[in-house]
Amino acid sequence: MNDTAQKITVEKAQTSKIDQVDFDNLSFGSVFTDHMLVCDYKNGAWETPKIIPYQPITLEPSSKIFHYGQSIFEGMKAYKDAAGDTWLFRPFDNHKRFNISAKRMSIPEIPEEYFIEGLKTLLRLEKDWIPQSEGSSLYIRPFMFASGKGFHASPADEYKFMICLAPSGAYFSGKVKVLIEQTYSRSANGGVGYAKAGGNYAGQFYPTQLAVKKGYNQVIWTDDNTHEYIEEAGAMNIFVRIKDTLITGPTSDRILDGITRKSIIEIAKDEGIPVEVRKITVTEVVDAAKNGSLKEMFGAGTAAVVSPIAAFGYNDTDYDLPELPNSYARRMKERIIDIQYNKAEDIFGWRH
Ligand code: PMP
Repeated sequence: MNDTAQKITVEKAQTSKIDQVDFDNLSFGSVFTDHMLVCDYKNGAWETPKIIPYQPITLEPSSKIFHYGQSIFEGMKAYKDAAGDTWLFRPFDNHKRFNISAKRMSIPEIPEEYFIEGLKTLLRLEKDWIPQSEGSSLYIRPFMFASGKGFHASPADEYKFMICLAPSGAYFSGKVKVLIEQTYSRSANGGVGYAKAGGNYAGQFYPTQLAVKKGYNQVIWTDDNTHEYIEEAGAMNIFVRIKDTLITGPTSDRILDGITRKSIIEIAKDEGIPVEVRKITVTEVVDAAKNGSLKEMFGAGTAAVVSPIAAFGYNDTDYDLPELPNSYARRMKERIIDIQYNKAEDIFGWRH
């Protein structure tokens, strides 16, 4: 245990709720473990993190989170292997991205040891909450927001960094049907699309609800300027397979630098799959769907890992994708899961 881990105080819950949880029927992110991590930023510095029983928090009505939305989060998972050991997948990348988001939203960055050691201390305490069954995991939600008060539209002087844990089942069940968005935008050049800022998600709810009413599960965002380029999905990066080539758009100001996305690029190269990181036009995808060269589309993200797309809608027409026996989506998912659950050698050094 290092210095930071030793300093973290732990106040244990008097009773555990674990017996009330049906681990065979978990939904995604709706039950929470017995404890949470809280760390306060006051007087220009982060205080030592504390672990306390999971409970409501008290905030002033004038806390700037409510008015100016200074708020960011991360999404990670803890996996339990057959021997009962717990693993994280590329957690240092989540910490780095958290601080990239923090900087963009004028939130003070959190030191690596508070994030990583804080999380590990919390996970040790909650290890019985980590599901062992295939497809289930402990979803980890680190988040940080402006707790400081005042109606002046400027960065707060106080913040809270917290981590809560939720044993979770699958994010999507089955294949998804998506709508390529032609009106609304998720992000813009010079904006905050590359940050995991709370408001990015709030802004997606309304257009996504409109798509859901039309029978789709998700929106595929296109660039704000022309709506001609495929960008990403609600909480996933997007891959397209045309003939045998796997293509994903480059990350930018507007797109989140997904950890699953970059892992898939490396795994695909390792498998000898031709991979292209380049802009993808909607026209190219529609034409490929029409001439039969569009083999697959899938989303990639921590929550769903890989989410195959069954059909997409564009200009009031639906295009079905074929069912492939040996899909890239399946291969990528298996390779990642085998690393995450310690079922295969980790040639990339991602497991922690
Ligand atoms: N794009 C967005 C907008 C997301 O919220 C997420 C989920 N973090 C992703 C992509 C996928 O990122 P990751 O693979 O790191 O979970």
